[in-house]
Amino acid sequence: MREHSPSSCRGCDPAFRVSEADIDRVLAAPMFQSAEHAVPDNVYESRLALCRACPKLAGGTTCIVCGCYVRVAAKLKARSCPMPGNSQWQAYAAQ
Ligand code: SF4
Repeated sequence: MREHSPSSCRGCDPAFRVSEADIDRVLAAPMFQSAEHAVPDNVYESRLALCRACPKLAGGTTCIVCGCYVRVAAKLKARSCPMPGNSQWQAYAAQ
């Protein structure tokens, strides 16, 4: 079991740090390849570009507003940016 400080969060405690390879493994699951659940690549890239420029991104992986790994959250049609009052990207609905 990993040790961590009770006063730290997933975004800043090294005990919770995930690698890009860990995230790649999550994204290899069928759900993330499914047109039913996953956004088109261009939408995914534009969502990630907004996250990379956002001050709420911690460690290059984690949104500190919701605690999600943005490479995972941004892949899903139903998700939207959780920034209160200033959402950077919205749930995806094909036009
Ligand atoms: S999901 Fe929204 S609040 Fe979180 S890092 Fe991305 S742009 Fe920022």
